[in-house]
Amino acid sequence: MSSRISDEFLRAIPKSDLHVHLDGSLRLKTLIELSRGAKVKLPSRSEEGLRKLVFKDAYKNLPEYLHGFMYTCAVLREPENLERVSRELVEDNAAEGVRYLEVRFAPQLSVTPSQGVREIVRAVDKGLAAGAAAHNRSRAVRSGEDVPLRYGIIVCGMRRFKKGMSSYFADILRLMENAPKDEVYAAASLELARAAVELKEEGLPVVGFDLAGEEAGYPPADHHAAYQHAHNHFLGKTVHAGEAYGPESIWQAITQCHANRIGHGTFLFAHEMIRDGRVADRRRYVESLANYLAAQRIGIEVCVTSNLQTIPSLKSIADHPVRRMIDRGLSVSLCTDNRLVSNTTVTRELSLVCKHASLTPQELKRVVIAGFKGAFFAGPFSDKRRFVQSVAARYARLEAEAGVGL
Ligand SMILES: [Zn+2]
Repeated sequence: MSSRISDEFLRAIPKSDLHVHLDGSLRLKTLIELSRGAKVKLPSRSEEGLRKLVFKDAYKNLPEYLHGFMYTCAVLREPENLERVSRELVEDNAAEGVRYLEVRFAPQLSVTPSQGVREIVRAVDKGLAAGAAAHNRSRAVRSGEDVPLRYGIIVCGMRRFKKGMSSYFADILRLMENAPKDEVYAAASLELARAAVELKEEGLPVVGFDLAGEEAGYPPADHHAAYQHAHNHFLGKTVHAGEAYGPESIWQAITQCHANRIGHGTFLFAHEMIRDGRVADRRRYVESLANYLAAQRIGIEVCVTSNLQTIPSLKSIADHPVRRMIDRGLSVSLCTDNRLVSNTTVTRELSLVCKHASLTPQELKRVVIAGFKGAFFAGPFSDKRRFVQSVAARYARLEAEAGVGL
């Protein structure tokens, strides 16, 4: 790491998180507290115990990584709990200098016979708005010294589900009892995309649609109708792709799902993973794909810690393609994925990549600003442009004060 990029500087600069799952980012203390009211049995009642047993620094495999979601999702059924963790998520981000946050979650998981997707998204928005308002009322923001915090909501369709996951999924499975599974998954996503568009048109900051859940064996193209609906109604599109499956998954995300951004994209350069026999020159295919993503400014939401925890072949950041992505001019932003489950923060992700991928001050600035430029952003583009300009101005001021980039 350049000696001029200190962790103090990384904490101070305005940052974004474009890829953060609400249900993976609770405060541990809050999870313990909410589990009592929700009658959820945790394997330990202490923070240390849960860090040892569930929310670790390193995981053996993906199922172990995903295990903790069983507990977090169980406490996130009540609207007041969703509102609280949403507010706390913004507070935690604001405290470490994050000024643009796009929170994603699957509201279908919290659906019960008495509350639908719309009520759940509204509860999350209420919490996020309260957290943002607390920062935006501060003297630093009012005096123009700091920039306000803006946020957006991304709703996630699920690549696959079972009826026990919520009454939303149980209803769809019952209604489509005899339909092939891929059609059932596609219908559930389309229904969600319709709700997302309605909420956006109602004035909520629903800015994007995503597809989450196990990637291998569940191609994004199956969810084409949902993405087409989102696309037709001007919603941003992002897809978890190239995390467990190769470059073709990313290609499908941009061609079949109109993706403006890619979640992870870790296997972008993994030409050996291409299965399509029609691709004659695999290396060339990967180069063309990377070049297209760069030229079209399709953002890559890179989550280094999370990737190291879930992809056994990645032993260190040196093995991670983030350096290669930056070298190819891709619009890379650094994200946490899950603050609790990955035990990380935006500042930590920046620090790790600065250090292990040897970012220069100019590269760091480009990565940080890419996070704001790549935002789906609720509201007029002219507001977004002004916001990005104010972020760049604050960054430049802090850079000059710290003597970074000289
Ligand atoms: Zn994710």
